[in-house]
Amino acid sequence: MRHEEQHRRGARRFRAPRVVPILALAASLALGGCSAEPVAAWQPPEFAPVTGAVLLDETGGETRTPDAASSGESEAQGAVETGSGADSAVLDQHALGLMPERLRNDDLGFAARFVYVPGVPDFNERVNAEVRSAIAATGGEYTPQVHPVGSGLDDRGCVEGSAGWSADEVLERPETAPAGEAGTAVTCDVTAAFGDLIEVRLRVVTGKPGAVSSDHTTVLFANVADGSVLEVASQWNDHAAAELWTLAMDLLRREAGALSSAPIAAPSEAQLALARNALVGAKRTEDGGLLVRLPPGLASPELEGLGIDFTSQPTQLGIDPETARAWTNEAYLQVHAALDTPFSGVTGTPSRVPIDCDLIPCVALTYDDGPGPFTSRLVDTLIAERARATFFMLGDRVDAHADTVARIIAEGNEIGSHTMTHPDLTELPLPEATAQVLDAADAIERASGEPVTLFRPPYGEVNDEIIDAAQLPAILWSIDTNDWQEPGEQALIERSVLAADPGDVILFHDIHSDSVEVASDVIRGMRDRGFETVTVTELFGGSVPEGRVSSR
Ligand code: ZN
Repeated sequence: MRHEEQHRRGARRFRAPRVVPILALAASLALGGCSAEPVAAWQPPEFAPVTGAVLLDETGGETRTPDAASSGESEAQGAVETGSGADSAVLDQHALGLMPERLRNDDLGFAARFVYVPGVPDFNERVNAEVRSAIAATGGEYTPQVHPVGSGLDDRGCVEGSAGWSADEVLERPETAPAGEAGTAVTCDVTAAFGDLIEVRLRVVTGKPGAVSSDHTTVLFANVADGSVLEVASQWNDHAAAELWTLAMDLLRREAGALSSAPIAAPSEAQLALARNALVGAKRTEDGGLLVRLPPGLASPELEGLGIDFTSQPTQLGIDPETARAWTNEAYLQVHAALDTPFSGVTGTPSRVPIDCDLIPCVALTYDDGPGPFTSRLVDTLIAERARATFFMLGDRVDAHADTVARIIAEGNEIGSHTMTHPDLTELPLPEATAQVLDAADAIERASGEPVTLFRPPYGEVNDEIIDAAQLPAILWSIDTNDWQEPGEQALIERSVLAADPGDVILFHDIHSDSVEVASDVIRGMRDRGFETVTVTELFGGSVPEGRVSSR
């Protein structure tokens, strides 16, 4: 019957095509009673729980609410399983075009996962401020730290559902935990995208499992139209958590085959806290409804009456738009004026989001001697990996690849002069050497529309007179892959990924096919260790020192 009512809502029902009977019962998992302690004075508010929510299975599909006849005998005891992981593909951070990041500093017991929204600088700075403040609160001295190969830090960005996890889970689960499961964990959850807004929950948990000292969630809205950020302290009305609990118990009771419509016992403070936490992690559906996940271990007199000590699996609830609105406070509803309009889309480019190399461990990948036949492929790889690099180009090759040059700049990369024809500058008269550097810079500027602020001397051969005359810093390198020897892709990975420390400048040549082929593995390998790849100028925070520079 409830299912029919959902259908009567027409196009605004949940996107949940599958109707799957659940109730796999696992008596062996019912280990004991964490029984509820009802608050006698509490009265359930007036609302209609039967139309307010549906239980969801692990795919996000509605579960069938069994009547007594079809539910059988098997659920007479044990735990109710209701699945986990309801998802909305529309909120995938990669599909949305966000820039995922991750940090780990084991000295400080610090781990952070966050996202930047391209084209929304205020949001990105707000995220950085939150991460920096969580680092400062550890009281330790922070320097960006990298980790051994295989650390898995290339899995980065927000963690689906983590805003609704228990604080213990955030400190425990490998996706978010600091080293040793003690310290500070920052995580985020992309919970809605509509109109010009992306909603992100940024959560900071400190302590250790069983001894959480703080747990704070900030609800941020990135406005992709004007680049601003909005912040909402509290999203829910006071009665929402109690109503959620009542709905959940009523649905679980019916799921277990009970015919009772007796009032649900008032939730205890602990139960209310569970419900509040679940609401913090709730996701808006496209139609303005909610997906809410309650953790396993729910216990209540109603379940106990059915021989169920506690739920062994998370309980997923789908809340209809009407109920969701009634639970939402006025301030939040104003932000959500455009809730039922489709998301307009991220306008910025991930690789153009500034990276703070005091916060995130950085390396600069540099590619010399192009542009050439493989350069365009390298740009494709950088775009696909949301990465960026610095190209040192030969001026006499620029005109033949003007489109590639323009594309390199448009995608957030950097181009420096590598002279017109690749001579040893120290063997030329000074005016000629200077002209080699600056003529190439002019050619690049004409093709790219961007001023050239760096040069790299061929063979690394340069002297102070040339640097002074060119008035550009001479960028050398701290790691030479010697890719011109064509040592094979594996060796190139070893010479770069395994050798890198934060602040390194790594030398490749995009005229060698292997160097371009291996670029994607190099970038992923760097991220696996915790690095982000940046341009040379970014490596120095936007201001490259004068003179000879080989690393930060
Ligand atoms: Zn060269």
